[in-house]
Parts: sequence; structure tokens; C-alpha cells
Amino acid sequence: MILTLKNNATEQQIKEIEDRIKQLGCVPEISKGEEKVIILVKGEQASVHKDIFDAYSAVDFITVISEPYKLVSKHWKEKTVVDVKGIKIGENKIQVAGGPCSVENYESTLEIARSIKKAGAAFLRGGAYKPRTSPYSFQGMREEGLKILQQVSRETGLKIITEAMDISQIEPVEKYADVIQIGARNMQNFELLKACGKSSKPVLLKRGFSNTITELLMSAEYIASEGNTNIILCERGIRTFSDHTRFTLDISAVPVIKKMSNLPVVVDPSHPAGKRELVEPLTLASVAAGADGLLIEVHTDPQHAASDGAQTVNPQQFESIIKKASQIAAVLGRTL
Ligand code: PEP
Ligand code: MN
Repeated sequence: MILTLKNNATEQQIKEIEDRIKQLGCVPEISKGEEKVIILVKGEQASVHKDIFDAYSAVDFITVISEPYKLVSKHWKEKTVVDVKGIKIGENKIQVAGGPCSVENYESTLEIARSIKKAGAAFLRGGAYKPRTSPYSFQGMREEGLKILQQVSRETGLKIITEAMDISQIEPVEKYADVIQIGARNMQNFELLKACGKSSKPVLLKRGFSNTITELLMSAEYIASEGNTNIILCERGIRTFSDHTRFTLDISAVPVIKKMSNLPVVVDPSHPAGKRELVEPLTLASVAAGADGLLIEVHTDPQHAASDGAQTVNPQQFESIIKKASQIAAVLGRTL
């Protein structure tokens, strides 16, 4: 439930309302805008107290939120812009992240980073802790990989996005990277989400491949409810009966999430594609659908990549995809 206060509400009146919310066993979250003060009343049964707050003269109107997610909803806030050391996600400019599925060594990571930067990317993505289906597959370079990412970031200025698979990995990821990625397989690892909520670093939350959009927003709410509202949502394909691609890119998720949530939405066209020739059309469709960013797997030698080589494009292909995507963005009045 959200209480929108009258423009002339005094500090004293705000305090009285805040105290009453606490007395009722709910938790107040106050947002003081330039013109209005709004108070989110958090609690499972918050809306049963609607009548009580109707009686307060400082309350202008009350919105009962029927959705189970609140801080990430449009009711609470129109738009969240996530600022990663000055690079803003959720504004007119569509931000691009490129890079290998897995960090393999310093030289190749630097070469990839330089090429994607030239093509217009602001972020380098790359996994150091890898969630692999098989325990016999390459598991990632772990902390060594994080150090490489940090070094390459210092050389190129690119900001780093990398995955943490469990709570113990948050600390090293925070130390070396700029954005903590929560992968599809961990979208409902609630303890991990709560730990991310206590982090000062932005979180890129990928949609689980068997999860609904409401479940994705509830997972984002877990992070936000612990205090960290710097969350970027990522559509990366879901599992359907369709087996011509690795996953089915749910392109409608982009406009639907934007209607439901204040958070920015980016698309990873590589994982649903599964094949590199599909990365371009899926990227263009994502930009046309309103994505705030792109996360694309790029490698200077995709055929020898340690993981996901089949869906990885080379720097030339990446540059060409970004050029075409910029043209689509321009039609929509956006830049890329
Ligand atoms: C990745 O980004 O390399 C990755 C493992 O993604 P996802 O969690 O979407 O499968
Ligand atoms: Mn991958």
C-alpha cells in the first residue's frame, strides 16, 4: 500500500504516520520527492489498515498495490536508472556489454575488450565462476579470472559484469568487478539474492529459463527489500517446446516488464540463440522491443572458446551487429 501525502504535509505529520505504521507491525519506506512525499507501507497485510490512514489529514490518496512486488513496481517509482561508475542504464542510450562466456587468459580477454570497446561497448562481460551443466566442463578461472577482468578494466576503462554463483563469491566479485551477475540458474536462490541486496554494487539479475516474469520481479524484490535497488533485469531466453534454438527468446518480456516494473531491462541474445548466426536478428529484435541494453558473447577465436563457442560472435561480426542495432535504435529516437 502506498500513501501519497499532501504537498503541505509537515515533518511532524510524516513522523506521526511513520510511527503508526510501525505500531501496526508494518514497515514504512519513505520517498521524499521534490513535490511529493510518498510512503510505502510494507507488510503482508498492509492494505487491511487502509481505513486507518484514510483518516489522516496529511494523506492525499492511497494506492493499494495488488502485485506481490512493490519496490520494483511502477506504482512505487516510474523509472530506475542504474548508474555504474557514470555509465547509466535505463536512459535513452542503449548500453552494450560484450565479452567471452568464460575468462580464459589475460591476453585474449584484453584483445576482446579492445575490440568491443572500438565497436561501442561500455561493459566487458566474462565469467570467472561458471555454472556448467556438466561437472567435467571448464568451471572457470575463479579469483584468477576476476583479477584478469580487473586488470583489463584498468587498461580499457570498460566496466566489468561477472557472475557470483553463491554467497561466498559475492565478496571477491564485489572487489574486482562493477556489476554482480546472478545467472539464470540462481534466479530463485533467495539467500544469494538477499546477500546481493546488502551489496553496494549494482546487480544484473537474469531471468531463470523456467520462470515467469512475476517470479523474476519477486526475485528482484528480494534484492531491493534488503536495500539495493540498483538492479538491471535481463531476459535471456526461456525453455519452451521449440527446439530449433537453445532457448526461446521471450521478446515480449521486454515491453511487458517495462510496463510492470521501474527497473531497466537488458537482453542477452546469445544464450537463446545457441548459434552465432542468430545473434544478429535477436539483437535487432531486442532493440526494437525497447531493451535498455545488450549482453553479447564475443571472442576473437569463437571456435576455440572455453565455453559457448557456437553462440559466440567474433569482433567483426559484433561490430556489424552493433552498427545495425544503432540504426534500429535511431528509428526509435534512442542512441546505442
Ligand atoms: C552467462 O552469461 O554466461 C550465463 C551462464 O548465462 P545464463 O545464466 O543466462 O545461462
Ligand atoms: Mn555463456
